Amino acid sequence: MASAWGGRLPVRSRPAQAPFAQPLKIAIPAKGRLREPAVGLLEDAGLGPEQPGERALAFPCRNAPVEVLLVRAADIPEYVQDGVVDCGITGADLVLEHDARTTELLRLGFGACTLEAAVLVESDAETIADLAGRRVATVYPRLARALLGVDVELIDVSGSVEVAPRLGLADAIVDLVSSGNTLRMNGLRSLGVLLDSEAVLVAGAEPDAAALQLTPILRSVVDARATRYLMLNAPESALERIAALVPGSRAPTVVPLAEPGMVAVHALVPASDVWHVLPSLERAGASSILLVPVERLLA
Ligand code: AMP
Repeated sequence: MASAWGGRLPVRSRPAQAPFAQPLKIAIPAKGRLREPAVGLLEDAGLGPEQPGERALAFPCRNAPVEVLLVRAADIPEYVQDGVVDCGITGADLVLEHDARTTELLRLGFGACTLEAAVLVESDAETIADLAGRRVATVYPRLARALLGVDVELIDVSGSVEVAPRLGLADAIVDLVSSGNTLRMNGLRSLGVLLDSEAVLVAGAEPDAAALQLTPILRSVVDARATRYLMLNAPESALERIAALVPGSRAPTVVPLAEPGMVAVHALVPASDVWHVLPSLERAGASSILLVPVERLLA
């Protein structure tokens, strides 16, 4: 049956709106590769972001007094610095490039990329030092100057940096790389990484209470996403070997099973280790291995 409130609860039956006294304003990228993961994070944190229409500039959250503003990713560091919003989600690279006076509250585990220097595959340059005196195209002039460590002629471009060497506009580029496909497609070769970046939650130089309250809520989701709950059965005699294999777990929970000599082992493991660890656990005698996602993780 269609809801009389278009899917929204009437105000009086909505969940309690504590803990924020004032609505918290958070800026997230209006488009690009960080937009959907940012909305997904607010969703998984239980804030209930209203699904924004394509052209929306702002939207509220159903379960918390949080107003989400959609702005250009590159503008977010300044909006946060100037107090236009309480906090924002954007790339760490953009925060550093804009030299905004902000506080990084949390690394968010998505939007991972590196800022790299690259040249045409046929270039004679082998190292970043070989770029001394050459022309380098970038949309990151501040970071390029600070991180290259050699004097170069910077060519400030506003986009499509990777075509600049082929067009003869520059000898090299400094640009963001994630898979490396764009470099390869444009006949470029990396000379090295200048910076590791990912999406971050940032607040002003002196974060207000609301931004500080949001941080552990988001952290519990970020940490949970990077973790799996591992359960397995094993003979007691294999326990020591199995405990040594379980990564990131200081003390797994060990529960005796009804079958004599058998135990169940439960542990939190980093998601990134699962691929390597499962076969080793089987070889060590583990059986009935279950791996389940974790929804929230509060240390
Ligand atoms: P976009 O709005 O899609 O151009 O990307 C904005 C942010 O996404 C950048 O500032 C980076 O923090 C992040 N990002 C992750 N991977 C890449 C990539 N391969 N190229 C550009 N940006 C990336």
